[in-house]
Amino acid sequence: MEYEAVIGLETHVQLRTRTKMWCGCANEYGAEANTNVCPVCLGLPGVLPVPNAEALRKTALTGMLLNCDVPSYAKWDRKNYFYPDNPKNYQLTQLDFPSTIEGFVDFEFGEGTERVRINRAHLEEDVGKSTHFADHSGVDFNRAGVPLLEIVTEPDLTGADMAYEYLNALKAILEYGGVSDCDMEKGQVRCDVNISVRPIGQTELGEKIEIKNMNSFSGVRRAAGYEIERQIGVLREGGTLVQETRRWDDAVGITESMRTKEDAHDYRYFPDPDLMPHTPSEEWLAEVRASVMELPLARKRRLMADFQLPASDAEVFVGDAALGDYFEVAANGAKNPKAVANWVMNNLQAKLVETGGSVADVKFEASAIGELVGLIEGGQINSKIAQDVFVKMFESGKSPAAIVEEKGLSQVSDSGELEAFCNEAIEANPGPAEDFRNGKETALNFLKGQVMKASRGKANPQMVGELLKNILGS
Ligand code: ADP
Ligand code: MG
Ligand code: ZN
Repeated sequence: MEYEAVIGLETHVQLRTRTKMWCGCANEYGAEANTNVCPVCLGLPGVLPVPNAEALRKTALTGMLLNCDVPSYAKWDRKNYFYPDNPKNYQLTQLDFPSTIEGFVDFEFGEGTERVRINRAHLEEDVGKSTHFADHSGVDFNRAGVPLLEIVTEPDLTGADMAYEYLNALKAILEYGGVSDCDMEKGQVRCDVNISVRPIGQTELGEKIEIKNMNSFSGVRRAAGYEIERQIGVLREGGTLVQETRRWDDAVGITESMRTKEDAHDYRYFPDPDLMPHTPSEEWLAEVRASVMELPLARKRRLMADFQLPASDAEVFVGDAALGDYFEVAANGAKNPKAVANWVMNNLQAKLVETGGSVADVKFEASAIGELVGLIEGGQINSKIAQDVFVKMFESGKSPAAIVEEKGLSQVSDSGELEAFCNEAIEANPGPAEDFRNGKETALNFLKGQVMKASRGKANPQMVGELLKNILGS
């Protein structure tokens, strides 16, 4: 029998905010343990939480970017459990009235586009971080109370690679929206992977197995690939699968059982009595909606259509939004946007890397790159000189035309002047000239090189080639 996989992902993303979700402590990674803490995030008795407006705004924005509804009523619930990294003995989350519901993400997969439906993106809070030493364990509460968005898909993904591409697309959207830095190294994105398999043709879903707390997308791909094969193997051998939670061992490359459904906690959810429901007004929602930007995939397609860029170039500009913005200004009205893209991706980026700067530091106007391309295409300078002009533009911020003028770099296209250079080259190199007359085509390149050298790179190379041929009588 043939089987197919069904995957649903629950992705936890730390929001980029200045302070934590319910208190004024800094939301900051890497500080000394237990320095960003206060009575609120330590769960001391008698304190009251105050919601972080920026987190609420970024949650709504995320919902809009994921094509979700943002209902006018959302509330907070306590999820009760005891664990050393959970100082309050409950986690604030949104059980039945989440901040955003029912959206979708379109993403590229293989040759086409796939859509995964989003069930909800709800706001909760992160917990502390335990570290285990040889003879004791420590817990750092700096992370406790950091706003955490949980983005839950419907079980629409059909394989490990597809799950991987969805995660990349989601990350790109969140980064675009400035919602989260999505820094995997800092644990800002963590993922629970729900996987089942079923015989092809069966509509009912199979028993769900959840792999908890994955912190890399490639890990998700490996774990899902392994788990799908494992489940199919169990069924093929006549075994049965039970709902359970498993752990991925990346070093060994296997999943292993952590707990089955029978051990599931009863979290005794109840509405938080200290927090008012969040009831966003129309005006507030309109304000958030005004900051919704073009999604990465839409931008990629627009760049390809408007500027005739190949997909790989468009991806570079989508991956680095600031560079993309820069390119769009530079290419605006340019006759050859692809040439402009090359200058931005190659020369400009190389210079930025070399100087450790960003596009915001570039001294010349973005439109100057279009002008530089225009000078090359109009025959005023050749592409070798253009490289030098670019370096000077980068250093001084002057326009390419001004630099060409000032340094006398204009391409020599005057046939009289070029003829003189050509005659000199032929006189000085009788051997190669003779070779060419005798039919050795490559000898022309040598003579051409001599002319370019004599003109300090300014000669129009095409004209030089033709003149040499004429003089040598071919
Ligand atoms: P729970 O209440 O156990 O957290 P949910 O129904 O909320 O389960 O689903 C959690 C995640 O698991 C969602 O991303 C959902 O799409 C996915 N999911 C649910 N059932 C299945 C299944 N049978 N196979 C794969 N994924 C599933
Ligand atoms: Mg779950
Ligand atoms: Zn605090």
